[in-house]
Parts: sequence; structure tokens; C-alpha cells
Amino acid sequence: MRWILLTAMLACGTDQPQRGADEPPATSVAPQAPDALEIRRKALSAEVRELVGELEAAGRYDCCVKTPCKLCSMRAGGCRCGEAARDGEPVCEECAMMWARGFGDEPVPASTIRSFLEAERQANGEICGKRPVTAE
Ligand SMILES: [Zn+2]
Ligand SMILES: [Zn+2]
Repeated sequence: MRWILLTAMLACGTDQPQRGADEPPATSVAPQAPDALEIRRKALSAEVRELVGELEAAGRYDCCVKTPCKLCSMRAGGCRCGEAARDGEPVCEECAMMWARGFGDEPVPASTIRSFLEAERQANGEICGKRPVTAE
């Protein structure tokens, strides 16, 4: 009987993580900070969504995807991505990404959609600020 108890104690001993006696158990550490940040993120996101709604009501938000982008509200205080998509001009990065995911909402093929960044790279013929290496 005695050796069984001893073995059990030894087994328990090996399961204990290496931790100082003063340290609190792992379960009582943290989550508070991430939660507070997540609450803030959600509040900001909801506020931006509200701003987009008001910009739309004011006739300053002509977006090109099913749920209007947020990027243009923060970057420009209005969105012209819808008009741009219809005219074959570049749209914002968020809209281009949503088009790539199948959420486009203009009567044009998704293949005609490109972001400002893509358009800029195409215009400059550059990759990361350098001319692409070409076979000679
Ligand atoms: Zn858009
Ligand atoms: Zn946009």
C-alpha cells in the first residue's frame, strides 16, 4: 500500500510545471487586457459602420460591394468605388479584397476589378520599388 501512495505522489510531482511558489496559478493571469481591447475594437468598428451609414444617407458613399467598405470612410470621408468599378478604374484595397471573395455588387466582371495598389504597380511596372528582372 505504501509504495502505491509513493508512486502516486511521484507521478503528481512530475506533472507540476516549473513555477516559483509566489507565482499565481496560470488561470488567474491575464485575459483582462485582451478583453478590454476587444471591447474597444468592437465599439470603434460599430462607430465606423454608423459613419458609413450616415455618409451613405448624405449621398457620399457609392461603394461597389454588398456590405459597403469601411476603409474609404476613414481614409477619405466618402467612397467612389462604385463609380470607379463601373468605369474600370481602381477601387480601394478593402473593396478589391471583397470582390476577390465574391462579394462584388456592380454589373461588371470581377476580373476587371483592381486595387489602387495593383494599379500603381501595373503603371510603374515595378515590384517592391524595383523593376522586375527580365530575361535578356
Ligand atoms: Zn467599394
Ligand atoms: Zn472603399
